[in-house]
Amino acid sequence: MKRESIYKRYIPAFTREVENNHPAYWFIFNSDKLLLNPEGSYKIPLAENLNDLSIDPVRIIYLGTLAGHPSYAAEVKPGTTAPDGMVFQDLKSLYELLDEDIFLLAGRAIQIINWDKNHQFCGRCGSPTKTAEYEMGKICPECGLMNFPRLSPAVITAIVKDNGLLMAKHSYGLIDRYTLIAGFVEPGETLEEAVRREIMEEVGLEVRNIEYFGSQPWPFPHSFMIGFTAQYEKGEIKVDGKEIVDAKWFTAPEITPPPSQVSIARELINWFIENHSPEG
Ligand SMILES: [Zn+2]
Repeated sequence: MKRESIYKRYIPAFTREVENNHPAYWFIFNSDKLLLNPEGSYKIPLAENLNDLSIDPVRIIYLGTLAGHPSYAAEVKPGTTAPDGMVFQDLKSLYELLDEDIFLLAGRAIQIINWDKNHQFCGRCGSPTKTAEYEMGKICPECGLMNFPRLSPAVITAIVKDNGLLMAKHSYGLIDRYTLIAGFVEPGETLEEAVRREIMEEVGLEVRNIEYFGSQPWPFPHSFMIGFTAQYEKGEIKVDGKEIVDAKWFTAPEITPPPSQVSIARELINWFIENHSPEG
């Protein structure tokens, strides 16, 4: 699986080096919308400071350097209008429009902003928290409770039987199509156990040969997708009729791939199609 690294041009850090006097990249969010400069090289605004962009922030967090420039995450009040010539655009819609490493960094920026915003006070004793100096943590000076940015791991599996790929239709899907079996990892279980449990719960099948395929950060709001392949072992397809309304085996020519070219679901489906197409 070819996934671009967030660290291609980005070096994380907690404090800006005083001798770095380059203009900074600003990842500025208005709710879930990112400020873009259609003229910019990576489309992220580059400026000495936020005054130059006529932006009045409610919070600013240093991220490290991007291509040698300091880079920051910032948040503005909802409803703020974009500076002349720039636009606020929904982060989700930028998945295939930004360079992948820039999209990943924007996803990191919005998750850090939301974490900072949602952990101003201790969840246990209610005291104001302090930001740790050398790690991404919020600490309560009264009771010592620490909070780190939350990640919610989820497993997604391509289940194969002979020349068939199992896909299911969800009742809550926004689009009416069949997708791979996926679900969040629960406390106390391993990734492989999460794969087995989700498949048993959703379609009533047992699987074997569970193999790691790849992973994908997914910042909506803080998911982390871990992809697997597995072989059908035994059982008959049985759906609950509530969460899953139907599930069946698809041969490669019967599959309509999802529209996104770079999601891990698409990569798993591509893997199946490449390895299980009927011989010509
Ligand atoms: Zn506390």
